[in-house]
Amino acid sequence: MDKVSFGYEDVPPEEKTRRVGGVFSSVASQYDLMNDLMSAGMHRHWKSQFVRRLRPRSGETILDMAGGTGDIAFRIAESGAQVTVADINAEMLEVGRERAARRGIDDLLWAQENAEALTFPDQTFDAYTIAFGIRNVTDIAAALEEAHRVLRIGGRFFCLEFSTPTWPGFKELYDRYSETVVPKIGKFVAKDEASYRYLVESIRRFPAMDEFKAMITASGFARVSVEPILGGAVAIHSGWKI
Ligand code: SAM
Repeated sequence: MDKVSFGYEDVPPEEKTRRVGGVFSSVASQYDLMNDLMSAGMHRHWKSQFVRRLRPRSGETILDMAGGTGDIAFRIAESGAQVTVADINAEMLEVGRERAARRGIDDLLWAQENAEALTFPDQTFDAYTIAFGIRNVTDIAAALEEAHRVLRIGGRFFCLEFSTPTWPGFKELYDRYSETVVPKIGKFVAKDEASYRYLVESIRRFPAMDEFKAMITASGFARVSVEPILGGAVAIHSGWKI
C-alpha cells in the first residue's frame, strides 16, 4: 500500500495506524463530552436513527466495529441482540466498559480488534455496524472485506460516517465551523487542538457518498444504498451479504 492520508498529510500506512492510535488514546477520557459539544448533541440523534435503520432483533449477534466508548452498542443492546463491541484502542474500550458498568449494562462482549484483520471466524455475525470509525481505518478496502467475511449470508452492513454536505450555502458554513470552531473547542475543553484538527481533516479526506458506496459494492456487498443526514454532512451506508 502506498501512502495514506492522516488528516491533510500523506503518510506511510503504519504511521497512520500509529498516529490514529495516539489521537484516540489522547481523546478517550473527553470523547463523549466533546461529541456533545462539537455536534450540539446531534450525534445522539444520528446514532439513534442509525440503530433504528439497522432494526436489531433479540437473539441476533451483532458486531459493533470501532465501537469505542459504546454509544452504538448500548442502543443496539436495548433490542436484546448480543453485541460485541470491538475497537483497536484499549483506552477507548476501557472508557466504554466503565460507561456500561455505570449504566448497569452487563451483557456486552468487548474485544480489542483491528477492523482490517479480525480474529472472528467466517460467517459469525448477523449484522456489522461501524459508526464514525471507517475513516480512521488505514486500509478501508481491507476492513470492508473483513466485514463481508465475518457476516452470515443474509447479514447486513451498516456504516454511519461524516460525508460531504450538498445543501447550497450550508457547505461553506459547515466548513468554516469545522475548520475554526472544532479545533478551538478541542484546545480549550480537551486541551488537545491537534487531535481535533486531525478529526476535521480526516472528514474532508474521506470519499464522497457515491465513491464510498462503490467501495462497499466492490467488497462484495449487494443492494448497497446511502441515506444522507443533515444535507449529507453525515451519511448511513448499508448493504447486504447475499
Ligand atoms: N463508534 C464510536 C462512536 O460512534 O462514538 C466511536 C467512534 S471514534 C470517532 C472512532 C473509533 O475508531 C476509535 O475508537 C478508534 O480507536 C477506532 N479505530 C480506528 N482505527 C481502527 C481500526 N483499524 N480497527 C478498529 N477500530 C479502529
